[in-house]
Amino acid sequence: MKVLFCASEVAPFVKTGGLADVTGSLPFALGELGVRSAVMMPRYRGLQAKRKKPSKNVSIFFIEHEKFFNRAGVYGNERGDYHDNLRRFSFFCNQALSLAKEIGFKPDIVHAHDWQTALLPVLLKTRFLADAFFKKTKSVLTVHNLAYQGHFPGNQFKELGLDAGLFSVDGFEFYGKVNLLKAGLIFADRVNTVSPTYAEEIKTREFGFGLDGVVADRPVPVKGILNGIDFDLWNPGTDKKVKKRYSVEDLSGKDACKADLQKSCGFEVNPDIPLFGMVTRLAEQKGLELFSEIADKFLSLGVQFVLLGEGDGVYHTTFVNIGKRHPKTSAIYLGFNAVDAHRIYAGADFFLMPSYFEPCGLGQMISFRYGTIPVARKTGGLADTLVDADKDPKRGNGFLFEERIPEKLLEAIGRAIAAFRNKRRLRALRRRGLRADFSWRHSAKEYKKFYEEMLKS
Ligand code: ADP
Repeated sequence: MKVLFCASEVAPFVKTGGLADVTGSLPFALGELGVRSAVMMPRYRGLQAKRKKPSKNVSIFFIEHEKFFNRAGVYGNERGDYHDNLRRFSFFCNQALSLAKEIGFKPDIVHAHDWQTALLPVLLKTRFLADAFFKKTKSVLTVHNLAYQGHFPGNQFKELGLDAGLFSVDGFEFYGKVNLLKAGLIFADRVNTVSPTYAEEIKTREFGFGLDGVVADRPVPVKGILNGIDFDLWNPGTDKKVKKRYSVEDLSGKDACKADLQKSCGFEVNPDIPLFGMVTRLAEQKGLELFSEIADKFLSLGVQFVLLGEGDGVYHTTFVNIGKRHPKTSAIYLGFNAVDAHRIYAGADFFLMPSYFEPCGLGQMISFRYGTIPVARKTGGLADTLVDADKDPKRGNGFLFEERIPEKLLEAIGRAIAAFRNKRRLRALRRRGLRADFSWRHSAKEYKKFYEEMLKS
């Protein structure tokens, strides 16, 4: 089976969020199952080094365009999104199909990801429809986050060079605007999203962002396939980015990582103080309001808190102010930094994810891998991966709250602190996380099955 993966970001080359983790791992995990893939992404300025472990089943291609991709940002700059993103990603999608043909990579499946490549299923059924090369090619669209749809002014539709009739309610049109993701959802042969719970949630008004009807009307229901994480990259047993290596058999290295994190945050170095971490995009989705409402009460509970985040300016201000009010017990790092992220995952006792919605969430899975216990809202992929340790002591691996009420978050945090005080329980919870297998192995098998079922039908 041959799959053409097209994405706007692929780790380790370029990453702004979980999408890159997925597109950087899934083709390789599928490669282990014998699936051959070509991965294509734009060649942005200053791409990072090559992937360390090459795979005979995966080839990576970069599409160059001086004007479109040789820029400082991936999607935009400090003034906002680039105004020509429709042209940039439309160019990329068209070129990806042309390149596949040029190199003779005849895909059984073109796998698109999010709005940036949602045009691909449309292109296969329009511009490339008569092309014998793609005659048997089917398309899959994975929605990593339905909140980002690729909206553009209606007058930009002509830049896609498609039949004007496609700018209608059954195509790209969305309240007078162009909506790239909507068209992808309509044209793709199969659509999936990144967790079973999120696949249900996006059929509702609350989480559908105007596309719930389109999602619910798909002839073949949208499937939920949970993401995995790269177990080689996220491995406390080999991680050179953290102070000391550790494993489920010997957790002592985690204590060293915590002491190291406390030191670099300027906190009191004390194993008995519970340390909460957060590594996140600073976006409304992440439930940051819930947190900021209770931040002062939380920080009066004898805890320490470290945040690494980047995103909306309003949240930058919110967190900087929290840091100023609690200089000895909170450390706020604004920016995107892979090394610091590893140190927080390893050094923290608890990882906070009060998300309003979370398509899958990687933070909780990475936390498990480092024996760090998530405290999260029960939504999307968080609901699919976490079991509350008080409700189900035998299987519990974290602390959950459901209602979007700040006090409920505080209550879950309180229960986490109580568990922290019970050393045996704490150790058991850490071990349960460390033993869990959220590697790509399972997810890749599910994707392969999903592909096979589509090709058979
Ligand atoms: P999303 O895709 O919504 O941002 P996910 O939980 O699916 O959320 O994935 C986020 C990924 O990005 C994780 O690997 C997380 O560690 C990483 N990440 C998020 N913010 C930062 C940051 N400021 N610095 C480093 N890594 C970050």
